[in-house]
Amino acid sequence: MLEGKTAVVTGGSRGIGRAIVARLCGDGAHVVFTYRTDGEAAEAVVSGVRAKGGQARAMRLDLADPEGPEELMAAAEALLGGLDILVNNAAVSHARMPLAETDVTFFDRVMAVNTRSVFLTMRYAARRMRDGGRIVNISSVNTARPVPGVGPYSASKGALEQLTAVAAQELGPRGITVNTVSPGATDTEMLHGANPPEALETVARMTPLGRLGQPTDIADVVGFLVGPDGRWVTGQNLRASGGLA
Ligand code: NAP
Repeated sequence: MLEGKTAVVTGGSRGIGRAIVARLCGDGAHVVFTYRTDGEAAEAVVSGVRAKGGQARAMRLDLADPEGPEELMAAAEALLGGLDILVNNAAVSHARMPLAETDVTFFDRVMAVNTRSVFLTMRYAARRMRDGGRIVNISSVNTARPVPGVGPYSASKGALEQLTAVAAQELGPRGITVNTVSPGATDTEMLHGANPPEALETVARMTPLGRLGQPTDIADVVGFLVGPDGRWVTGQNLRASGGLA
């Protein structure tokens, strides 16, 4: 389905991003993905893709670096020979913290990773992506279901959703679709790092489909949007949450 297409996925070393890399490579795309800390995990993703006959490369960078996202896009474009698909997946979340106790440095770090990096990769894509391309940004159901203590994270995702909506308007005339995918609670290190087990049992009970999401549940929605069947969907926020929001 994606043979001959090239893709950049941020945060592909674990969790949802790893599943997205596997899905896109399985569909035939040549993928460059990023990681920040765990080179061994990134190499394991590359080996897993190659073992199945796919093509993937890993690049290390900190998306909080103001120069990093554009350098990534330029390096990926040179390596891949062009850009067809961009998936902004990487993000940081945080333990619950009331606004009254949140400091500016912390807020700025969350916004730099979760929002400014997305602005920068999208700006690059707006200039350089081939016509007919696809952009998917990963948000969260937190923007539809506010919960106490996640102000910086929710703010960063709300801004990302607005960037997505505006980019869909601007890039539509070139046949480029731009969408948000908003996971509900999904079984990854991010979720377990920010919530005790009993809280996750409660969320699973509150979810109409009765369980936590799995990374492949989200990757399959991304695969639909970036593939031929997603051609008429743009400017949307698809909540892949088992009905949580
Ligand atoms: P995760 O398991 O924490 O993985 C995050 C990925 O992002 C890792 O590959 C990590 O690389 C990378 N990353 C983090 N900070 C980075 C930085 N400063 N620079 C470059 N890369 C960085 O997260 P996840 O649960 O798969 O989440 C993926 C996306 O889904 C995020 O946008 C998240 O907000 C969203 N989401 C998740 C849930 C959930 O319940 N899991 C719910 C709603 C939305 P390293 O491992 O190398 O640090």
